[in-house]
Amino acid sequence: MTSIVGQKEIQARLARQLHENAVPHALLFCGPEGSGKLAVALRFAQALLCKNPNDGQPCGQCQGCKMTGDFVHPDLHFVFPVIKQKGQSGDAVSDMYLKEWREVLRTSAYVDYQDWLERMLVQNQQAQIAVAESDQILRKLSLTSQQGGYKVMIIWLPELMNVQAANKLLKILEEPPKQTVFILVSNNSDKLLTTILSRTQRVAFKPLSKEDVASALIQQCGLQEADARRIAHQGAGNFTRALKQIRVDADNGDFFERFVQLMRMCYQRDIKGIKNWSEEIADWGRERQKDFLDYVLYLVRENFMYNFQIPELNFMNQKESDFSVRFARFINERNVIEIMEAVEEARRDVGQNVNPKMIFFDFGLRMIVLIIR
Ligand SMILES: [Zn+2]
Repeated sequence: MTSIVGQKEIQARLARQLHENAVPHALLFCGPEGSGKLAVALRFAQALLCKNPNDGQPCGQCQGCKMTGDFVHPDLHFVFPVIKQKGQSGDAVSDMYLKEWREVLRTSAYVDYQDWLERMLVQNQQAQIAVAESDQILRKLSLTSQQGGYKVMIIWLPELMNVQAANKLLKILEEPPKQTVFILVSNNSDKLLTTILSRTQRVAFKPLSKEDVASALIQQCGLQEADARRIAHQGAGNFTRALKQIRVDADNGDFFERFVQLMRMCYQRDIKGIKNWSEEIADWGRERQKDFLDYVLYLVRENFMYNFQIPELNFMNQKESDFSVRFARFINERNVIEIMEAVEEARRDVGQNVNPKMIFFDFGLRMIVLIIR
């Protein structure tokens, strides 16, 4: 199970409620994305389903803890937004995506709606929690608890319930089945019915502190301190975003090498080298090519700014700034606009399915001329 970043106060309060046998039947975890609501919900579910909790904390050893840790406990139920599959009649329900959902959670509980859409292999569709889901909730909760203790139902992003589903859920919350704990995990609780809000105990999450994010990045992801601080700073208290930034950084490291290669060859007028270079880039997928050109644009801008020596305006990492010491002078007021136009044009051409070998070879040739201005 994912380790939790920060949120010590909330965790302590939940543990106390469990220890004192005062767990409300419905909790609403609300607050900004990436603050760890789902991670805390999962840990709390583990404590609720643990055979030997210690001061409201899960023991981590018992069968209950192990099954919850793998998200397969028979008394742990999940509801989350889903999309209808092609040719499917009737509503889609969470159970149809349970395998994918568990896979996502096994990777990390710091997951956002976008990640989930990608995991369901859709991008531009809207996922929702449909009315058929409420019937499933009723059915699942009418079963007696398999292990003789609590039943836990985690509802992720309840704001994506349609109206009928929300009304049915309300009825369930009004007459809650015994020994059942609902945990609603919401990024946008303003969108929930006020009648649902009034049936739940609100647990308000704050964005994580930069210190908490940075130390988690060092301990959990093995980052160097400077990188961890930079990413924590960019992430604004959102750990999910910080984790994504690590992946972007890894890609950018690769992009950086490619850019340096090209600039060196442009400086040496190595046409053959540029040709080979463009053929290698042409083998990438178009999305990656676009990401690369976005990165080039960023680097061009940063190097232009570097010449003014205003550190607050530069956001490059160590490797990039080291490179700028020698390179920045090649990006100046005589060429910066045209270089940026050349990058943007290449990006547009990638989007319009122009032959990528030509796009990147032309781009290289233009850079030969531009960087000596
Ligand atoms: Zn346990």
